[in-house]
Amino acid sequence: MYLKSIELSGFKSFAKSSELVFNSSVSAIVGPNGSGKSNVAEAFRFVLGEQSIKSLRGKKGEDLIFNGGGNESRANRASVKVTFDNSNQVFGIDFPEVTIERVVHRDGVNDYLINGSSVRLKDVIELLLRAHIGASGHHIISQGEADKILNSSSKERKSMIEDALGLRIYQYKRVESDRKLKKTFENIAQVESLRKEIAPHLRFLRKQVEKVEKAVGMKDELLNLSRDYFKREDLYVGFTKTALESERTPIESSLKDLSRELAVAKATLEKLAKEDKKDYLILDLEAEITGARAHKDGLTREFGRVEGSLAAEERVIRKQRELHTSDEHKMIRLKEVEEFAESLKEIKPEDNESPVSVIKNIVSKLLLFIKGHKESADSSLIVEAEEHIKELQKEKAKLETEIQKAEKREADLRIQYEELKQKIEEGKDSGRDAEKAVFRIMSEENDLISKLNIIKVREESLKKDADELMREVEEVGFLVGREALQFKSIDVGDEVSVVAEDRKIQEERKREIEKLKIRLEDSGLSGSEEVLKEYKDVTERDEFLTRELLDLEKSAESLHSLIKDLEERLAVEFSSGIDKINSEFNGLFNTMFGGGDAHLVLTKEKKKKKDVLIEDADADIGDDLDGDAEVVEEGLDISVNLPRKKIRGLLMLSGGERALTSIALLFAISQVNPPPFIILDETDAALDEANSKRYGDMVEKLSAHSQLILITHNRETMSRAGVIYGVTMGSSGISKLLSISFDEAAEVAK
Ligand code: ATP
Repeated sequence: MYLKSIELSGFKSFAKSSELVFNSSVSAIVGPNGSGKSNVAEAFRFVLGEQSIKSLRGKKGEDLIFNGGGNESRANRASVKVTFDNSNQVFGIDFPEVTIERVVHRDGVNDYLINGSSVRLKDVIELLLRAHIGASGHHIISQGEADKILNSSSKERKSMIEDALGLRIYQYKRVESDRKLKKTFENIAQVESLRKEIAPHLRFLRKQVEKVEKAVGMKDELLNLSRDYFKREDLYVGFTKTALESERTPIESSLKDLSRELAVAKATLEKLAKEDKKDYLILDLEAEITGARAHKDGLTREFGRVEGSLAAEERVIRKQRELHTSDEHKMIRLKEVEEFAESLKEIKPEDNESPVSVIKNIVSKLLLFIKGHKESADSSLIVEAEEHIKELQKEKAKLETEIQKAEKREADLRIQYEELKQKIEEGKDSGRDAEKAVFRIMSEENDLISKLNIIKVREESLKKDADELMREVEEVGFLVGREALQFKSIDVGDEVSVVAEDRKIQEERKREIEKLKIRLEDSGLSGSEEVLKEYKDVTERDEFLTRELLDLEKSAESLHSLIKDLEERLAVEFSSGIDKINSEFNGLFNTMFGGGDAHLVLTKEKKKKKDVLIEDADADIGDDLDGDAEVVEEGLDISVNLPRKKIRGLLMLSGGERALTSIALLFAISQVNPPPFIILDETDAALDEANSKRYGDMVEKLSAHSQLILITHNRETMSRAGVIYGVTMGSSGISKLLSISFDEAAEVAK
């Protein structure tokens, strides 16, 4: 026995707290008309979560609260508390007893409590479902509802029977799974759209990363090529320097010897000149030639300096032009950007100016700012360099004429020298030997100086190469890092052949390096760290979403199969349940009518989806909004065949026959899947004596599995009850409860 007691307080006519204890498998409630018996049946419906006030014979929640009567003032709340035994855990919770309480207040607010704790209606329904007490209340047959199951539509009947068979829990789970599946599909769509959203960004980043990777490849290539080139160049410069030095040293020492010799010869001539009072022209000429040569050397050096400066300026211009062509990497000083932003703040829209026009104004200012920077892009440096070049070129031209003059002067002197030499050769003089010596020395000196000059030019050019090398190393180092500086240890093979190699090959290498440098600069390796980091982040997010999608698809799949399982189970249990009910139903019908047959028949009706929706507001149309689509609606019809009568169909039955058929079906259902308790409110009202006896027998049979609470005026029915409660109502309109004996009850029932 599960049902232990029910307690009503303030509920309808039960103004005072009244308790009915059900310690017998059959309890009867008896009493005069209008004393409040049906209110007890309604109290059951109410506490089990009935939401239709109409089916509790009221219009609003307030109608369920004791409304006052006699001296008694009205109550503020109605509460009903039902207590079940849970010692074998039918409710699936760890309490020996389960008490469900529902309270309704005058403002229509309802409270639900399970074992004294506030809960939601949903929790109550779930708890009851576990104990096989469905919300449809098929086990509470109210007054006048004896043939309810016959009157209802085939669809309603099917639903009542499903409920009675305990299939609600599966249906409930099915609806829940459907809801979850729908939610899962929503989530799938959401994740898919998120992935779609980041896809273009990811593609863009992937391209950037490819560029970065390419640039890294180029960097490595540049490093390798450069180090090879640097090492070769370094060897060449070092070797050539030594070679030139070893050529220069003997020449210099010869020149020193000659200048000593010349000094001796000149001294001799000067002495003779004093003694002979005679001019030795060669002395003056020698001094003039030396002076002219020094002058010319000075000019040539100056010329070299000017040329060097010109080359440097041209390099500046070249570099600027290169940068100029790649706007992409143009730098703008932060200060200028800040100033520009400040200037934007000053824009004040004119009256009636549209926002679009304000934006256009800002955009045009921005474009102007960009254009200005594209053009001005350090062109000031170019202008400066160009001006300097102009000056240098003027200087160079001037020097060229001066050098020409100096050369002319030297050539003139040389002619004088030749003429003088001729004269001296012809004449006989005591100073002739000395003079001859001066001529010889000067001639030899001239040869040596020419050679030395050639060496100096070569040294000058070598120095340029060495400087260039240093500059290159620095530049490549800036582009690819410190490793570029460590070229000395690079192996380039046999040093002699490296030095002997045609310089054109090395120049070709240099051109390659230059090209690579420009490509690398254009690739814009700057900011690559952020690109790589962002790519990593976005890729991770994408992978996360992909995994999430997979999980969602998996859970959709498992929900699908769960729904399929539930549907199969429902179908199997429903069909086996119907078979069992039919066999009981037919048997009971036979007993009651002394023959004939009766059974439930499954019906299938094709309906338009929209019609189903109108009938059943809770029906889920799903994503298919085609209301004209056909759906199959299942129901249960009752087929009866009375003995000795050619009656088929429910419509032709008498009132008593309807009651009997209905009772037979209700009892059949209850027998197949016994509910914990059954309340029958005057279901026996229409029965004659013979049938009352049969009814009593069936009640006893049913009471083996379900507790029965019978509201009755019928003596026969009362005689089957273990406990009888009498309900009376005094002049105050308040129902009173008392436990009475069968004899008293029979008296009351009269
Ligand atoms: P019958 O044997 O004729 O079926 P019954 O014993 O089943 O009668 P009920 O229908 O349960 O009687 O009781 C109806 C009584 O309850 C009426 O007298 C009605 O006035 C009273 N009643 C219903 N609602 C309230 C309420 N909110 N406050 C006070 N009394 C109420």
